[in-house]
Amino acid sequence: MEWCVSMPKLELHAHLNGSIRNSTLLELATALDEKDFAEVQHVILKYDDRSLKEVFNLFDLIHILTTDHDTVTRITKEVVEDFASENVVYLELRTTPKRNDSIGMSKRSYIEAVLKGLRSVNSVDVDFVPRSEDSKTFLNPLPSITEDKCDRDCRKKIFVRLLLSIDRRETTEAAMETVKLALEMRQYGVVGIDLSGNPSIGEWVTYFPALKFAREQGLHVTLHCGEVRNPKEIHNMLDFHPERIGHAIFFEEEHWRKLKSSNIPVEICLTSNIRTLSVPSIEAHHFVDWYNAKHPLVLCTDDSGVFSTSLSNEYKIVAKSFGLGMKEMFELSRNAVEFIFADSGVKEDLRIYFNSVAKNMK
Ligand code: 5GP
Repeated sequence: MEWCVSMPKLELHAHLNGSIRNSTLLELATALDEKDFAEVQHVILKYDDRSLKEVFNLFDLIHILTTDHDTVTRITKEVVEDFASENVVYLELRTTPKRNDSIGMSKRSYIEAVLKGLRSVNSVDVDFVPRSEDSKTFLNPLPSITEDKCDRDCRKKIFVRLLLSIDRRETTEAAMETVKLALEMRQYGVVGIDLSGNPSIGEWVTYFPALKFAREQGLHVTLHCGEVRNPKEIHNMLDFHPERIGHAIFFEEEHWRKLKSSNIPVEICLTSNIRTLSVPSIEAHHFVDWYNAKHPLVLCTDDSGVFSTSLSNEYKIVAKSFGLGMKEMFELSRNAVEFIFADSGVKEDLRIYFNSVAKNMK
C-alpha cells in the first residue's frame, strides 16, 4: 500500500454530493436525456478542466439525480466507505439540506436520510453520535503506517461529523432554517455550519444573521472564502472570525496579514482549485507560501467525485510538487486534529492514535 493511502488522515472539507462515486453517478445518469447524460459522462471521463461556473451547473444536474431519500442514503454510505478505505480516520462531511416538496422531502428528512446512510455503513465502524462524558471509548487501533493490514483483531473505525451548508442562493430565512435544523440535530453528530455555493451569487449581509446566530448557539462555523475576487466580502468574512475557512485563493496582502494574525486554519483543496481554473498551476498555488509561513493548513478533497481525486492523492500531489517527505506529510495530517469541530474527547482519541502511529514510524 502506498504511504499516502496507509497514512491516517482527516478530511475536513468534503461536500456530500460532490464526493459521489463516478460509478454511482453514471448509473443514476442513465435516467437523464441524452444531452445531460453526455454532460455527466464528460465530467466522469474528465476530458478537460472546467470553470467554477460550469462546476456549479454540473451540481444542479447532480442534484436532479441525487435528491431523493434513498439516493441520499446510498451516497452517504458509499462516501463514508470510500474515505474509510483510504484510512481517513475522521471525516467532517458537509451537505446542503434540500427541500423537494414533490417527493415529500423537507430539509429535516434530507438530513435524516444522511443519518440513515451513516447507520447503514457496514464495512467499517462509524462513530457519529457525540459521546457523553461518562462513556468515553477509544478509537480502535488502526494499522500502523508500516503495515498493509491490521495484525490484530481490529476493525477499522471512522469518526464522522456533519456540517450543514447554507447555499449562497438562499434567503436569510432559509439560512436560518438550516441553522435551526443543525441545532436540533446536534445530538446526531451535526457540529457546525458551512457557507458554500456559487461564490459569484449572493451577499454577505444575507447570511450574516444566520451565521451569527449559529455561533451564538455554540455551532462551529466554516466559510468558503476568497474563491473569486471580492475583497470586501473577504474582509467581512475575516472580521467575522470563522473557526476555519475554505480555499482562500484571491487574497490580497492585507487579507493575508489579517488571516495570519488571527491564525484561522485554511482548508486547502488543491485539485479542485486547479480543475476549476481558480489557480493556474500547482506550483502557483498559495499552499506552499502559507506552509512555509507555518500557517495552520489542512489538505482536503472538496469534491472527490466531481474532481476525480482522493485525499491520498492530494497528499501525494503536495509531497511530490513541494518536495515534502513522509514525516512532514504525517505532521500535516496530525496537525489537522487541532482544527476539528468534534468535541474534546474525539480530539484526544485522535491525538493518542496519531501518537501511537508516530511511534511505529521511528
Ligand atoms: P451538497 O451540499 O449538495 O451535498 O454538495 C454539493 C454542493 O456543495 C454544491 O451544490 C455547492 O453548493 C457546494 N460546493 C461544492 N463544491 C464547492 C466549491 O468548490 N465551492 C463552493 N463555494 N461550493 C461548493
